Amino acid sequence: MRRTILILLAAALPSCSKGPQELQKEVQAYLDSYATRYQELSYAANQADWASNTRIVEGDSTNAIATRAAREALAAFTGSEENIEKCRAYLERRVDLVPIQVLQLEAILYAAADNPATVPDLVKQRIAAETAQTEVLYGFDFQIDGKSVTTNQIDEILRTETRLPERLAAWEASKEVGKGLRTGLLQLRRLRNETVRALGYPDYFGYQVSDYGMSTDEMMTMLEQLNRELRPLYRELHTYARYELAKKYGQPVPRLLPAHWLPNRWGQDWSSMVTVEGFDLDGALREKSPEWLVEQAERFYVSLGFPNLPPSFWEKSSLYPLPDGTAYKKNNHASAWHLDLQNDVRSLMSVENNTEWYETTHHELGHVYYYISYSTPEVPLVLRRGANRAYHEGVGSLMGLASMQKPFVEGLGLVEPGMQTDAVQMLLKEALNYVVFIPWSAGTMSRFERELYAENLPPDQWNRRWWEIVRQYQGIEPPAERGEEFCDPATKTHINDDAAQYYDYALSYFILFQLHDHIASTILNQDPHATNYFGNRQVGEFLRTILAPGASVDWRNMLREKTGSDLSAAAMLRYFEPLMAYLQEINAGREATLPEL
Ligand SMILES: [Zn+2]
Repeated sequence: MRRTILILLAAALPSCSKGPQELQKEVQAYLDSYATRYQELSYAANQADWASNTRIVEGDSTNAIATRAAREALAAFTGSEENIEKCRAYLERRVDLVPIQVLQLEAILYAAADNPATVPDLVKQRIAAETAQTEVLYGFDFQIDGKSVTTNQIDEILRTETRLPERLAAWEASKEVGKGLRTGLLQLRRLRNETVRALGYPDYFGYQVSDYGMSTDEMMTMLEQLNRELRPLYRELHTYARYELAKKYGQPVPRLLPAHWLPNRWGQDWSSMVTVEGFDLDGALREKSPEWLVEQAERFYVSLGFPNLPPSFWEKSSLYPLPDGTAYKKNNHASAWHLDLQNDVRSLMSVENNTEWYETTHHELGHVYYYISYSTPEVPLVLRRGANRAYHEGVGSLMGLASMQKPFVEGLGLVEPGMQTDAVQMLLKEALNYVVFIPWSAGTMSRFERELYAENLPPDQWNRRWWEIVRQYQGIEPPAERGEEFCDPATKTHINDDAAQYYDYALSYFILFQLHDHIASTILNQDPHATNYFGNRQVGEFLRTILAPGASVDWRNMLREKTGSDLSAAAMLRYFEPLMAYLQEINAGREATLPEL
């Protein structure tokens, strides 16, 4: 009798009794079968999603229904009890496994935490709550003086209006939506936390951060460090903005920036404060066709040693605006797709022959070449992602930035060589975008969401705490005290969806500058403000070695190995160094009032 029981136990938990080699074999068989099924289901879901984005027929919900069904089938598989139990059991014996197997098991478990079948009611409630929240957010009727306005119209007022009462009305109108989102956010916090706790994560913020192989404390320490490094430059920009905007509006200089003075609803981008008389790229591009722009972006990557895009890219992508009179619509937001995690790469764009699309084609093909580079037998399917969530965006933005530099466009014959541009104004405009974004993303958003999810911030303190954080990091204050009847954080899309991962954007900027600085100074020996990557095989090789491993390597080790330093603000600061001197000169005699961190 006794013997039978032992045999039964061994049969039920086979991995416990096996030696390391046998166990590795068993795990590999599981990983292979997971990958096969995952590829089938995610390919089906992505194809349905692609149809939903490229063929939108008014009143016809066929595509939307098919997409939802395919997504549900995928979620049922990735979150299944079987997958969760197997991964947990195998990870108990992680010391006996090969590191790449451990990485895959962790990735599978991470994906499962989004919709674990072990807590089906929570998952169902969370999905319903997310859908309801999005409907309130996107369905909100914004109004100024009783008249409906779009958020584009509000943004336009904040960018261009010089009369303060009009600005105030637009800013206040933009914050009304928050009131109706508070209850939903409270519910979402509970459901998001409880769902991931079912798989052993501390809370939703910690779950999202774990994708970087870090704890919440480690992530926050890194973000604080980056904020501090950038603080002297941000302080100069803050002083500059207070004095320049006070002059513009005919007001006394404030100690903190009134939120409605800034050209953005959250003060996250001030670049429209400056207009640069630069080279006329738009003019040159008017002579070219939209097709030329996409082909030119491909030529750039090929010149670096990357392969031509596969024929299926050209056949299956949706690259240009639909002709007038087409019976359906498409999503006009640019994106890059890796549908089968193998060779089916596509891009969804609406390319026209102007500067914005010129930069965007280079950016989106950066994502596509990332997909192509890690779709190799060496990288298991579930690790075919960026080295972390920020790398993909960082690489795309890097290539977009490279494509805009003067020697690059001169090399393409798009502008006359040697044309004069106001380099300092250009740099100022860039800083009002890149640098100003950091206290907002790595400061305000990350700090608030950590307190929301990890510290269970009481809902009757949300708005007070939000503005304390905004004052501290961004040096911005509301036009008047904002009580708890408002819910100003919830006016930001990503507080409601894609929550607790906003630092991704900040980190992608630091990665962008760190890679660019290394390429400019070490490979090209060129001024980082005036580079030309085109045709340089060494640059291509450097990029290829970063892209090719996907998520199969530790992102911090890779950055250290490739650039010689850990993630830091140093490269971004070096890039803006000439601006620092300029700002100190115009800010001489002005009082700096940005709070200490
Ligand atoms: Zn992108």
